[in-house]
Amino acid sequence: MSRISVLGLGAMGAALAATLIRKGHSVTVWNRTPSRAEPLAGAGARIATNPAEAVAASDLTILCVVDYAAAGAVLAEAQEALRGRDLVNLTNGTPREAKKLAAWAEEKGAAYLDGGIMAIPPMIGETGALILYSGSDAVFERHKPSLDALAESRHLGGDAGLAALYDLALLSGMYGLFSGFLHAGALVASSGRRVGDFLPLLQPWLQAMSGTLPDLAGKIDSGKHSDTVVSNLAMQATALENIARASTEQGVAPDFIEPMLRLAALRIADGHGNDDISGVIETIRRKK
Ligand code: NDP
Repeated sequence: MSRISVLGLGAMGAALAATLIRKGHSVTVWNRTPSRAEPLAGAGARIATNPAEAVAASDLTILCVVDYAAAGAVLAEAQEALRGRDLVNLTNGTPREAKKLAAWAEEKGAAYLDGGIMAIPPMIGETGALILYSGSDAVFERHKPSLDALAESRHLGGDAGLAALYDLALLSGMYGLFSGFLHAGALVASSGRRVGDFLPLLQPWLQAMSGTLPDLAGKIDSGKHSDTVVSNLAMQATALENIARASTEQGVAPDFIEPMLRLAALRIADGHGNDDISGVIETIRRKK
């Protein structure tokens, strides 16, 4: 049983604290709005009256608030207590924010591990939840059994910004899927049909298309976008144009598809129309 403090008891922080209590840890909690700590006190948590008291109460502090501005504000109140402590920050932000906070915490004498939660609150402590970590390897190793109580734990490396980078990259993939789904749904609904009835076609199609990702990733990593091309970019740009035109015809906003069409057009204008669609990453990378 470890002594763990959880700072920030929103939907996610409360789920983290409740799971640690349920799995037998000795948990101290703090939240800016004290009433949110009450249900956890009922479950066995000790309530700290300020962030410094919470940090001082445990070997490990887990911070999970809305953003880095809030994280900075909370930690500023706890800075005297941070020396010699282990800090895990599960607040979502950018790699630069994570690295800056890591440097600040280390200057205050704390060992810092950053994390990105790939789960929603009800998944915490359940199979399927994943938390990505980066930063202090020592903190990860010391507290892995406790962290494993929350989710599968994966340490990506010593660079504190990596967990945030991978978190946002995974979310990029997810939002690409959601955006594509919403646009596809709008097209189908424009015919008066139900989106739910379209899913038996869409889901296997997406599954089949995700099978092409290893080939595209191989081309990206080797830079060889013209190797074994079966569906060249110029042909795919025509399909993208057709989607945009059909959307307008059907009274559907073409806003989702247009950025992809623009990126493909730039790549084709650079002379790569016969390459695979993997080559569009070169246009994205160059921030055109
Ligand atoms: P909530 O909106 O439910 O809670 C926000 C928390 O931040 C509250 O504890 C709030 O305190 C605190 N907070 C906000 N501003 C300040 C401040 N200036 N000073 C001190 N505390 C502050 O958010 P979640 O719990 O859902 O999210 C927390 C983190 O977890 C976010 O970074 C989010 O991206 C991440 N996350 C959330 C997921 C989810 O599905 N919910 C999934 C994956 C990651 P108060 O109660 O006083 O307002």
